[in-house]
Amino acid sequence: MGRIVNQGHAVILGGGIVGLSVAWELLRRNWRVTVVDDNQPRNTSWASAGVLLPTSEISVHPVDRLCCLGTRLHREWSRRLHEHTGIDNELQFGGGLYVARSPGEVAALLGQREVWRDEQIEFEPIDNHSGLSRFPELAWSAIRRATWVPSEGQLRTPRHLQALRQALLMRGEQGSIVVGRQVALESIGGRELGVRADGRLVRGDLLCVCAGAWSGELLSQIGVNLPTTPVRGQILLFKTDGRWAANYVINEGVRYLVPRADGHLLVGSTMEEVGFDCRTTDEGLRELREFAVAILPALAGAESLGAWAGLRPASFDGLPYLGKIEGFDQAYIATGLFRIGVQVSPAVAVAMADLLEGRPPLLDLRPFAPARVLT
Ligand SMILES: Cc1cc2nc3c(=O)[nH]c(=O)nc-3n(C[C@H](O)[C@H](O)[C@H](O)COP(=O)(O)OP(=O)(O)OC[C@H]3O[C@@H](n4cnc5c(N)ncnc54)[C@H](O)[C@@H]3O)c2cc1C
Repeated sequence: MGRIVNQGHAVILGGGIVGLSVAWELLRRNWRVTVVDDNQPRNTSWASAGVLLPTSEISVHPVDRLCCLGTRLHREWSRRLHEHTGIDNELQFGGGLYVARSPGEVAALLGQREVWRDEQIEFEPIDNHSGLSRFPELAWSAIRRATWVPSEGQLRTPRHLQALRQALLMRGEQGSIVVGRQVALESIGGRELGVRADGRLVRGDLLCVCAGAWSGELLSQIGVNLPTTPVRGQILLFKTDGRWAANYVINEGVRYLVPRADGHLLVGSTMEEVGFDCRTTDEGLRELREFAVAILPALAGAESLGAWAGLRPASFDGLPYLGKIEGFDQAYIATGLFRIGVQVSPAVAVAMADLLEGRPPLLDLRPFAPARVLT
């Protein structure tokens, strides 16, 4: 076997799903990779529900194209990660049920059906009579309209993250994770970016900032303006003990119920701009519980197993930042993925790796160029 030629050393700042995915893709391409993270106990990616929304190969919107490629790659990545690490992220496509209880939600759902129709995404309107026989656990008396979309999927994000971390560390000297309490970007000689972690300077041929909602603050410290706003989402966890053994996601507006194969049920989520406060609140959890019981009455009186919150990274215009950091020769950013970071993570990884290597990216990243903020 020929000697593996090392492409160079890539430093990734941030070990959430985006940073670890970019790292894994670069390792596959024979880069040596160092991920630097401050090891916050539960990052946004860990907190995610892991839902993969329905997508279409004929979508033209750049974000939809990213989602579509993400879903396609997840099938392959999940299999490869499972083979490499033995960790099953439980990727499955059990479908999604969309329900509307208020007139506004009905209008939104009817509009969404038009989008699905245009994009040739299979869906099926469900009337209350057939709903009651197919999904008897739901409170159909309160539901005005419903639609079934068979291609919706989900994965267990903590397991996916665990698999990515393990796959990275299994590469010996090629892949490492540096954990620091005080981590900051550092400009070296004006044109190079490095990472200062607890006093130690980590530098590479390439650097990619994947620090989620914290990216904007980190960059502002070196004079780069790429604002990221944290948008808090809370999740409430139940164990259904077989009372509800479904494998499909229920969506209503921005809320959802996500059942896991082992009977756990996630209820999410809130959308709150409260800065970098990652705590749950009584009010947020009460609202989630009320929503869950209104859809699944069997949950009334059920004890929740726990709750958590994460901070979604939002950009200033709703599009992610994927590309070069202006003013530096070897520095890139991949963040601003707000509510879709899990779904698109493998697509972002492959496209960013293409860009970092100077190849034409698998997907056109120009709409996501960070330079748009400066213009
Ligand atoms: C409640 C909730 C539900 C969600 N559900 C879904 C879903 O169903 N489907 C979907 O696709 N997406 C979902 N999302 C969105 C998704 O979770 C995010 O888009 C995604 O996790 C962002 O990943 P990231 O790697 O960019 O950021 P993060 O996961 O936040 O990772 C950033 C990393 O950078 C590290 N970091 C930050 N600052 C520093 C520093 N100074 N030094 C060193 N390291 C640092 C952090 O510790 C962290 O490890 C959800 C989000 C939330 C909150």
